[in-house]
Amino acid sequence: MTAKAYCQQLLENVKEKHQDKPEFIQAVSEFLTSIVPYLDEHQEIIDRNVVDILLEPERIIQFRIPWQDDRGVWQVNLGYRVQYNSALGPYKGGIRFHPTVNESIVRFLGFEQIFKNALTFLPIGGGKGGSDFDPKGKSEAEIMRFCQSFMTELQKYIGPDLDVPAGDMGVGAREIGYFYGQYKRLNQYEPGVLTGKPVSMWGSYARPEATGYGLLYMTENTLAAHSDTIQGKRVLISGKGNVGYNAAVKARELGAVVVGISGSSGAVYNENGINFDTLKDMIDNRKDFSDMERSPGSEFVEAKSIFMLDKPFDIALPCATQNEIDEEVANNMIKQGVKYVLEGANMPTYDQAIQLFKENEIIFVPGKAANAGGVAVSALEMSQNSQRLQWTFEEVDSQLKDIMENIFDLISETARRYSEEGNYTAGANIAGFMRVVDAMQMQGLV
Ligand code: GLU
Repeated sequence: MTAKAYCQQLLENVKEKHQDKPEFIQAVSEFLTSIVPYLDEHQEIIDRNVVDILLEPERIIQFRIPWQDDRGVWQVNLGYRVQYNSALGPYKGGIRFHPTVNESIVRFLGFEQIFKNALTFLPIGGGKGGSDFDPKGKSEAEIMRFCQSFMTELQKYIGPDLDVPAGDMGVGAREIGYFYGQYKRLNQYEPGVLTGKPVSMWGSYARPEATGYGLLYMTENTLAAHSDTIQGKRVLISGKGNVGYNAAVKARELGAVVVGISGSSGAVYNENGINFDTLKDMIDNRKDFSDMERSPGSEFVEAKSIFMLDKPFDIALPCATQNEIDEEVANNMIKQGVKYVLEGANMPTYDQAIQLFKENEIIFVPGKAANAGGVAVSALEMSQNSQRLQWTFEEVDSQLKDIMENIFDLISETARRYSEEGNYTAGANIAGFMRVVDAMQMQGLV
């Protein structure tokens, strides 16, 4: 069977089996299309049907999370952990709290995580989890009770050499602190069971900054490879969460002009660069753009996406959530003169939009390479926890820089070898796939 026919057949099977999981189908489809040129040269993988096994998670855990709200009423949410692939190390990936979380979302995120983690060359497999719990509008006490109840169940399935969760949307150091407290109450001292912990509780320095900073290190490497520099470039960022905010900080530090950033209620735009004091105040005090004090020269704008604005810019950093950039948004970005798109979020761009970028010679770096800095520093946190040591911010940041540079070199070389110069999506998918599939085959059928 040819590689193309094999991948088509696998995709048909996934579509039939998972009709109700569009995000999962989308992620698998993009992936299978990319690996065809590699499989063309590796008939043995097709003959052994290895990819069919890779598409199936090793384990999916679904559980209920009962909790009590501040009025004393009992509530229940759904919790998930997808332990997707452990060929390269313990399952590793975040926990997302968002009302959109369902099995399709955690499967797609877990699947992407396998290859992202493989690109870091650190010993981590792929996993992901979450809940449809909406943290918005909940009191501090409700968040704590919810996290405790979530961990009461999850703790049965995790461990420093088994599965090491971290944060994702809606889960930061505060929630990880509550998770850890509950884990320790039910087990014993073992900080290596979670990453993204507060620094005072054996977390790693530079972990909160890592995804955003890593995204900017990737941007610097990408621009350099295209004989360009970030100095003076106009940057638009969607999402002012942990990733978007730290990306903005690093972009400015490197000499770019952050002309706009968005949150869920709108966006702020300033052609001379947004006001960072206002932005920080908004984030520290959990305010949103709609109640932000307007700073001189800034406009508050409401749009489907910040990338729909009628304003020119050079670099797009989508750091909000999946499927933000469809064809309509991509066409507007092209009209505004975008030159580079690097994904800080997981799968914010639809396949058709990626195709449009390609046709218009816009450089595109997919999330599994561009946002790998977060999970990479999580793996460094695991190392520090095993050593019972804590490294300095500078040490961690310098390792992060090297890791992002290595990932860029790896995906560009792999693109050149198996696809075409600058096809970083193919480069990332193939490079991640090669590592995982080699490890799976070396371990035999398990
Ligand atoms: N949630 C982040 C990601 O998507 C980080 C995961 C981790 O640190 O384990 O990669």
